[in-house]
Amino acid sequence: MKVLIIGSGGREHTIAWKLNQSEQVSEIYIAPGNAGTQAVGKNVDIKADDIENLLSFALEEKIDLTIVGPEVPLVLGITDLFRMNNLSIIGPDAKGSKLEGSKAFAKEFMMKYKINTAQYKEYTDFKEAKSDLGLYGYPMVLKADGLAGGKGVLIPETEKDAAEALDTLMNSDKFGDAGSKIIIEEFLDGIEASMLCFVDGETILPMETAQDYKRALDGDLGLNTGGMGTYSPSVLFDDTLKEKVNQEVLTPFIKGVQAEGIDFRGILFVGLMIKGDEIKVLEFNVRFGDPETQVILPRLKTDLYEIFDKMNNKELDQISLEWTNEKAVCVVLASGGYPEIYKKGYEIKGLESVDMVFHAGTRLFDDKVVTNGGRVLGVTSLGESIEVARKKSYEKIKKIEFKDMYYRKDIAKLDD
Ligand code: AMP
Repeated sequence: MKVLIIGSGGREHTIAWKLNQSEQVSEIYIAPGNAGTQAVGKNVDIKADDIENLLSFALEEKIDLTIVGPEVPLVLGITDLFRMNNLSIIGPDAKGSKLEGSKAFAKEFMMKYKINTAQYKEYTDFKEAKSDLGLYGYPMVLKADGLAGGKGVLIPETEKDAAEALDTLMNSDKFGDAGSKIIIEEFLDGIEASMLCFVDGETILPMETAQDYKRALDGDLGLNTGGMGTYSPSVLFDDTLKEKVNQEVLTPFIKGVQAEGIDFRGILFVGLMIKGDEIKVLEFNVRFGDPETQVILPRLKTDLYEIFDKMNNKELDQISLEWTNEKAVCVVLASGGYPEIYKKGYEIKGLESVDMVFHAGTRLFDDKVVTNGGRVLGVTSLGESIEVARKKSYEKIKKIEFKDMYYRKDIAKLDD
């Protein structure tokens, strides 16, 4: 089978790496890919949001199955376009993708299908929003309705900061169209966790759990990032919590998807806030989370192509997922300065002597691998315990080198 993976991050490299282990897969194309994906397939120079050219490529190359990594092409309707052209593709349709593409749509869905979430109100009028800023007290949560590259959530602590944040969200160019509608939400405290699931519209299969580290600095300090590391399985999830998520979120989710006529043959990522025995949904994403994928897929024993194929045929009920007992740890190597200003183009050395290093922000330049983003590499290891996997990843890091390389030293350090 010929597969096409759309995207260029660590997530796509991991999916390509995993599909490369399937006997059913003969060729892998990644559009646009990175220096790492080139080692497991062929990169195609088409951007992830150029859905018309992706369609032409898939038709010309007679691609058997396409897997969409990032949210933007999904929200643009790539799955509808491909299916209209009789191509098989993994990802929810445009309506289903609104569960990520519009926060207001997601909240309405949750209210309608009784999925527990923070109280909220939506606004398109600046003055009205401004007069409601303290509606649920402080800190408060402001969200741009549309996609904002993970930057559309602001949590001001005071009335003054809230007024400024609202102004930036609705009146500046920074958020463009994404901020023309916003929601004001009740602030929830608790512990954050997430769950990824394979979905075919009728069956929903939760994956093994993962815990990510979003802050830039050790001790969970510093700015929010796309993720500085992960480990799997998460210590937060026991069977009781998993069952609770299943009953209170996943079952009503499937009911809702069916009642709304959504074609959801894709990945669901549920962001949760847990407090005591109460769980609330913070957000839905309609694709793999980048850092989580890098520890979850290496633990998957079931053939990933087989899973996607069954999802495509709405036969996911025939799959029973198998996982290795080994634990996984991924430490992200970032460019110094990330998530603010950083430089690109530095040569990366030492990659030939380490395995399971997933590329996020890299590219080939003059046959050398150079840095090409804020998060550069995800160094993943498996081990009989989290501690063993953790040690392996930090050992590997000693062999990798690039200018201004930065990483957290406390990923998966569970004993303190
Ligand atoms: P979202 O994209 O909606 O998940 O928001 C991104 C991040 O903002 C989450 O991972 C949380 O850390 C935080 N967040 C979002 N909504 C809330 C909320 N209602 N209360 C507290 N924190 C939130």
